[in-house]
Amino acid sequence: MTVVIAGGGLSGLSLAGHLALEPRWHDRVVIVDDGSHPLDTIAWSSWTGRPTLLDTAVSSRFDRVRVHVGGRTRTLPLGHYRYQVVRGTDLDRIVRELAEPLPHFEFRRGHVDGIDGPPGRTHVVVDGDEVEARWVFDSVLGPTEPPPVDAHMVFRGRRVVAERPVFDPGVPTLFDFRTSQADRAAFLYVLPFSATEALVEHTSFASPHGPLPGVDAQRAALEGYLDDVLHAGACTVLHEEGAVLPLSAGRVARRRGDVLAIGTPAGMVKASTGYSYQRVQDDSAAVVRSLVEHGHPFDLPAMSTRHRVLDAALLDVVIREPRQLERAFAALFSGASAEPALRFLEERSSVGMESRLFAGMPVGVYLKAVGRRLRV
Ligand SMILES: Cc1cc2nc3c(=O)[nH]c(=O)nc-3n(C[C@H](O)[C@H](O)[C@H](O)COP(=O)(O)OP(=O)(O)OC[C@H]3O[C@@H](n4cnc5c(N)ncnc54)[C@H](O)[C@@H]3O)c2cc1C
Repeated sequence: MTVVIAGGGLSGLSLAGHLALEPRWHDRVVIVDDGSHPLDTIAWSSWTGRPTLLDTAVSSRFDRVRVHVGGRTRTLPLGHYRYQVVRGTDLDRIVRELAEPLPHFEFRRGHVDGIDGPPGRTHVVVDGDEVEARWVFDSVLGPTEPPPVDAHMVFRGRRVVAERPVFDPGVPTLFDFRTSQADRAAFLYVLPFSATEALVEHTSFASPHGPLPGVDAQRAALEGYLDDVLHAGACTVLHEEGAVLPLSAGRVARRRGDVLAIGTPAGMVKASTGYSYQRVQDDSAAVVRSLVEHGHPFDLPAMSTRHRVLDAALLDVVIREPRQLERAFAALFSGASAEPALRFLEERSSVGMESRLFAGMPVGVYLKAVGRRLRV
């Protein structure tokens, strides 16, 4: 039997790595990637309180984060959590080191044009050739009816070298709201590499029905932050990246015959944060467990409906009233440790914990948003 993994990015590589580490798995695995998203420009940050199978790919770890919200800067310990970074090239290297020596793994460079066929006879069209597969894991084409987009997360980031030592190499800044909130909710993110070098990213939330912020405006916000807030002096830009990430809190129909969507098309990007790394690790582990225990990949835990409704409500509120994002984050990160907030954002919080976290928030505004969501 052959399984095909369409796309060798975060979700495809993570699934391949989990299969390679599963001693009960001996069937053929073909990972197909066309190289359209080069891995040498990608790094995934995430937080977790648990070890995962591919942790050897982690290149940096932090046990504190900084937030600037509600007019004050706070450095918060993470409790049992850690904040970590995995570079695309490291994940690729680790997974290839695990899988390439195994005779049943094949990494194939090619473009997936289509995934067709009835259950039991699914084939993946790669550069015009058909590869027959028992199961297909699809991170590139996605379901025929994806859920509606609730918001766009718009990033522009620069890796910079500052004239002065203005970054704290031991503490990333998760969000700093010292940037205009006039048109849309926005914050700055800083991932430090040394006292003078960091990735500084401007992130904003845009309506799915409205205009996106222009590149010049994003650059001006980045430059304003480096100049007026950090007083970084003249900065050398080593690299610039920009992206628009569609966010959806809707439920995704992941299965189509013998095809299972993975990664972004499977709804792994959390709608309120834009992060997917840890969800993808959990999902890869669950898919492999289902394959070896049940002979199919579909016995997967359901995603939390409560957290999905809360994500939808947050996006609805911040698109209508941009300043509510800072208020929400101020409430979430008001404690002495960031752990409860991270636990909530990782969807591992209890209702009791959530009612304590939300105590300072305008509940009525969110209840109205939930009402609008439920009427859709
Ligand atoms: C700029 C940006 C920064 C992000 N940062 C983070 C972060 O720090 N932490 C986090 O958790 N999440 C982050 N995300 C969100 C999300 O985790 C990433 O987008 C993640 O890479 C999604 O994984 P994936 O497997 O779905 O897609 P990808 O990682 O993009 O993998 C898809 C792969 O398929 C290949 N491909 C595409 N089309 C075809 C085709 N037709 N045939 C064959 N191959 C094909 C591509 O080359 C690529 O390798 C970020 C997203 C963006 C856009």
